[in-house]
Amino acid sequence: MSYHFRQENGDAGDGACGQCGEPLPADEGTGPCEQCSCACGQIDGENCPAVVRADNRVVIEWMPPHLRSSHEAAGNRGVYPHNGAERLTVTDLCAGRLLGDWTHVVEMNR
Ligand SMILES: [Zn+2]
Ligand SMILES: [Zn+2]
Repeated sequence: MSYHFRQENGDAGDGACGQCGEPLPADEGTGPCEQCSCACGQIDGENCPAVVRADNRVVIEWMPPHLRSSHEAAGNRGVYPHNGAERLTVTDLCAGRLLGDWTHVVEMNR
């Protein structure tokens, strides 16, 4: 039995993201959808509850650890997407926590 509780409050309707209104798979309730959820968990493994909105949205480019040594050896880090880096949409707060030698901002909506 997997029945989700429904909120009857206008536009946050069935199977749509409460943030952007994008339709969601039936089992995801009111979202946030993939685009509206912070993707920082792909880096630190934590399940981040933050919601990405237009005013806190930051796209970061992150080099997975297993690729770093080869880039270090080559003396550069190549160019996305050929270098194996990943682009993730996160909140500005999470971006600030994650930035470093192998993570930088590529897009910031302010
Ligand atoms: Zn959404
Ligand atoms: Zn996050």
